[in-house]
Amino acid sequence: MLNVIIFGPPGSGKGTQGIKIAEKYGLAHVSTGDLLRKEIETNTHFGTIVKGFIDRGELVPDATIIGILDSFLDKLPVGKGIIFDGFPRTVDQAKSLSEMMSTHKTEISILVDLNVDKQELVDRICKRGETSGRTDDKPETVTKRLEVYENQTKPAVEYYKQRNLYTAINGNGTVDDIFARLCEAIDTVK
Ligand code: UDP
Ligand code: MG
Repeated sequence: MLNVIIFGPPGSGKGTQGIKIAEKYGLAHVSTGDLLRKEIETNTHFGTIVKGFIDRGELVPDATIIGILDSFLDKLPVGKGIIFDGFPRTVDQAKSLSEMMSTHKTEISILVDLNVDKQELVDRICKRGETSGRTDDKPETVTKRLEVYENQTKPAVEYYKQRNLYTAINGNGTVDDIFARLCEAIDTVK
């Protein structure tokens, strides 16, 4: 199994690149952000809980997001592996993910961390906000999301560095150039 985490701040290209990687390597693309938006769209009990956190640019609490992911993984057919997009977002989530993986008799193969200049991130998200219809793609919320990323999400990098699973990727440039850099890293573990 090839289990990849695509990591990086909001606007770093996790979704765009995650889909391309899933296609090339035959992986299931699991975006926890997409799972949450689906809960909201279909008005589930979880949806009503998580909407406020997303709209404020805050993280959905660990127990809630882990519950949603866990039940999704239980239903996922066994395949060649998974690419996790937007998860984990805290150190505790990183620990839980390792536990979930070992329950499924597998493990994380690599984390690729997209490094993008801050101004480029803000520009990309504000541009996406013009068409995405996402309530959290407006300038005030973007600033909050970047702050949450720095304070709560980035520390999870240490967990993977300590386990030799971490690779930094230059996330500036064209989609194709960045994709090539990601594939080069993933090919070292596949
Ligand atoms: N979110 C969360 N936990 C997750 C995924 C998403 O709390 O595992 C929430 C959080 O409020 C985040 C929002 O959903 O700001 C959007 O996440 P997504 O990954 O879609 O945005 P991206 O970081 O890709 O811009
Ligand atoms: Mg995304």
